[in-house]
Amino acid sequence: MVLYENKRIVIAGGGIAGLSTAWAIKQRAPQVDVVVLERGPRPGGNIRTEHIDGYVCESGPDGFLDTAPATMTLVHELGLGSRLLPSNDHARRRYIFRNGRLSEVPTSPGAFLKTPLLSTRGKLRILCEPFASARRDDDESISGFATRRIGREAAAVFVDPMVSGVYAGDAAALSLKACFPKMRQIEDDHGSLVRGLIATRRTRRRTDTPGAPAGRLTSFTGGMSDLVDGLTRRLGSVVHTSIAVTSVRRNHTPTLSPTQSPGRAYDVTTSQGSLDADAVVLSGPAAESAAIVRELDAVRGKAKTVRGDAREILLDRLQELDASLIEAVRAQCGGETLEKLAAEADEELRPFRARMPPEAYQQSHRACVDRLLRDRARLPTIAYE
Ligand SMILES: Cc1cc2nc3c(=O)[nH]c(=O)nc-3n(C[C@H](O)[C@H](O)[C@H](O)COP(=O)(O)OP(=O)(O)OC[C@H]3O[C@@H](n4cnc5c(N)ncnc54)[C@H](O)[C@@H]3O)c2cc1C
Repeated sequence: MVLYENKRIVIAGGGIAGLSTAWAIKQRAPQVDVVVLERGPRPGGNIRTEHIDGYVCESGPDGFLDTAPATMTLVHELGLGSRLLPSNDHARRRYIFRNGRLSEVPTSPGAFLKTPLLSTRGKLRILCEPFASARRDDDESISGFATRRIGREAAAVFVDPMVSGVYAGDAAALSLKACFPKMRQIEDDHGSLVRGLIATRRTRRRTDTPGAPAGRLTSFTGGMSDLVDGLTRRLGSVVHTSIAVTSVRRNHTPTLSPTQSPGRAYDVTTSQGSLDADAVVLSGPAAESAAIVRELDAVRGKAKTVRGDAREILLDRLQELDASLIEAVRAQCGGETLEKLAAEADEELRPFRARMPPEAYQQSHRACVDRLLRDRARLPTIAYE
């Protein structure tokens, strides 16, 4: 496909996100020069398996859910199907260490009444769940949601360890909407988690849908590193370790001619020198990635410190300026360049066209041409919302 000819995409970060993005690009457009730069001595990020005295030990994730079709497709594309290892049903018992001992997490009403994990008051509070107050914040934290629905004690005893197990994160800082959208949906649909879970269980029994909604925790015979090793092996020379990306800047040489290639849009500086790229994927932690692109946001950054009416005026002005810059570039372009960019936009949007209403397509097409114009003219993005 001409669209991707001679294109280079740099991926900063060789965790599972960076590696699988590289794989997806290579599958769809093998001619693209993909470069994964990982600052550590090995790829995989959080995923790390060690084999100690015959045991498979995970220092990060110990499995993934088999319900996401994209994950399973990736596993089979890499030829790892025969190494899949679903969790054992007999080992499906969870324990929580509390008050100096391990207690099994109750999974039946009888076990719930007997469990030493909660005080009588904590158990009674859970029974009040159907009468919990309604949501006030649109984007509530997981612990805010759990405390509101099942009380502070049960939230701390059951939800915090569950969140640590899944996200290794702080339930008070993680968004329910982003992490557990199904829970939120159950509350919206049934007004109560208890009522919703009973209804879901009934439907599942009736329709006999294979597999629980949460899916089955699955790993590989060699542990989660099998996935990283499979990707790294198949990506070959695409992956480079011990190279950190330190900054990404716009390349400021504009081209509006239809025949001259616009050159690559970004300069990527790394701990081992620099390279140019048509696109950059930042797959490291968001807060660290923000520092890498700070310079791209320099103009808009000024607006962040202004408050009140002055801020509104400044934001409106930046938006106007942004629109007028694009219009000025459009006016300067010859018809031939605009036609070429329109064809490029058509090609980019082709996979989505059938699923888009004509109006939405027109809008996306215009936005796509604007972006291509912006890239060619090397315009900074100065609109800020
Ligand atoms: C203890 C623990 C247990 C977990 N358990 C599970 C589980 O059981 N199931 C599950 O699905 N998820 C689990 N997770 C979450 C899962 O591990 C992560 O969601 C996933 O690994 C994130 O992958 P990532 O590629 O986005 O980021 P990371 O794994 O953080 O990878 C980012 C990579 O980018 C590199 N990098 C960062 N900045 C730069 C730079 N400037 N230049 C070059 N390289 C850079 C880093 O060195 C790193 O290798 C767990 C997480 C932890 C910590």
